Amino acid sequence: MRREDRADPASKTIVIVKTSQRENESEFTERKKRQMESPLAEADQLLRKVPLIDGHNDLAWAVRKDGHLGVADLDRLQPSLQTDLVRLQSGRVGGQFWSVYVPCRFKGSDAVAATIEQIEFVHRMIEHFPNNLALATSAKQVEDAFATGRVASLLGAEGGHCIGESLGILRAFYRLGVRYLTLTHNENTSWAEAATDVSIGGLRPFGYEVISEMNLLGMLVDLAHTSRSTALASIQASRAPVVMTHSSCRELVDHPRNVDDETMRALADAGGVMMLTFVPSFISAECAEWDAALRRKAVSQGMDPRDLDVLRELEKEQELPRPKATLSHVIEHLEYAREIVGVESIGLGGDYDGMSEVPVGLEDVSCYPALFAALLERGWSVTDCTKLAGQNILRVLHEAEGVAKSLSRYQ
Ligand SMILES: [Zn+2]
Repeated sequence: MRREDRADPASKTIVIVKTSQRENESEFTERKKRQMESPLAEADQLLRKVPLIDGHNDLAWAVRKDGHLGVADLDRLQPSLQTDLVRLQSGRVGGQFWSVYVPCRFKGSDAVAATIEQIEFVHRMIEHFPNNLALATSAKQVEDAFATGRVASLLGAEGGHCIGESLGILRAFYRLGVRYLTLTHNENTSWAEAATDVSIGGLRPFGYEVISEMNLLGMLVDLAHTSRSTALASIQASRAPVVMTHSSCRELVDHPRNVDDETMRALADAGGVMMLTFVPSFISAECAEWDAALRRKAVSQGMDPRDLDVLRELEKEQELPRPKATLSHVIEHLEYAREIVGVESIGLGGDYDGMSEVPVGLEDVSCYPALFAALLERGWSVTDCTKLAGQNILRVLHEAEGVAKSLSRYQ
C-alpha cells in the first residue's frame, strides 16, 4: 500500500506536507534563480550599490495638508501618501531632496514662517528615524549616509516667495540645511518670472543678487517652474552648475512646466543636471491636454489656474476621466533627454506626494527599481543608470560646494 492510500488522515497529511515542502523548495529555488536573473533583481542590486537621489518629494506638505498624520506615522505603510519609510526602503531610495514647499498664496513673512515650519518638519522626521534617515548638507554627507544604509535627506525650498525678498532669510535657510532654492513656484516673484504666469521680463536685478548669494553659499539654483527667459538668464548668471529638479521635455509634451531643447542644452553646457519628473500632465500629451482644459475651466469660473488646490477641487467635477500616463512615458522623456543633452546631464525628480495622479507602474516611491529594470531591459548600461540615478546630481553638488569655497568672502 502506498502511504497516500492509507486511511489515516494524519499520515496522509504528513505525506502531502512533505510533497508540498519538496515542491516548494524547488519552486522557491527556481523563483529565486529567475528573480536573480531578471532585470528587476539587477535593478535592485544596482540601487543597493549606487545611490538613487531623487530631486523632489512633497511629503512634508502632504502630511501638513492631511492634518491627521504626523512624523511618527511614517514608518508604516500610509496608503493616502505616495511616500513612507517602508516604500522608500523597497524603492531603494538612497537620497532624497525633501521639498520644503509652501503655496504661493502664502505671502511675505507668512511664506517665510510656513517654510520654516516645513524645514522643522523635515528635521523632526530625520531625528525621529535615525536608523532610516540621515541629514545631508553636502555631497560627502550624502555618500556617508548611503554607506550606512540610510536615506540621505537633503532639503530643497520650492518657490522664491519663501525668502520674503531677503538675502538674510536665504542665508538662514542655508544654515538650516536647505541646499536648493527653486526660484519660483507657479506664480512670479517680484524678481523672477514663472513658467505659468504673465511675463515680467524674466530675471530682475534682485534675482541676480539671489543667484550670486546662492553661489557664495553653495546652494543649488533650481530652475524647475521658472519661465524660459528666467532659466536662460539664470544659467548665464550662475557661477555654479544649476539644476531643474522636476521637469520634463517640452518637445514631447507642450506643457509650460516642461523645458525646451535650447534651454536643456544651455543647462547641460553649463554642467547642470535636468532631473526628469513623473507628473502625468508633463509626460503624456493626452494628460497635458486634459490639464489645459482644467486650467481653462478655472479661468472661466474666475478662479486662479496657478493654484494647485483650486485645480484639485475642479478636477472632481470633470466629466471626462483623466487619461492615464505610464512608466513608458517617463522612459520616452528620459531617452529623449539623453539624446539631447547626454547621459551626464540627466537625473530623476519624481515629485511624489506633489502629484494628484501618478503614472501606471510608478505609483509610489517603491517603484524606482521597476523604472531601472525597464531601462536595463532597453539596453541602458549600468554606467548610464548609475549616472542617472545619482552620480550626476552628486557631481553638481560637489561642484557647487567647490564654487562656494573658491568665492568665499572669508578667504
Ligand atoms: Zn513643483
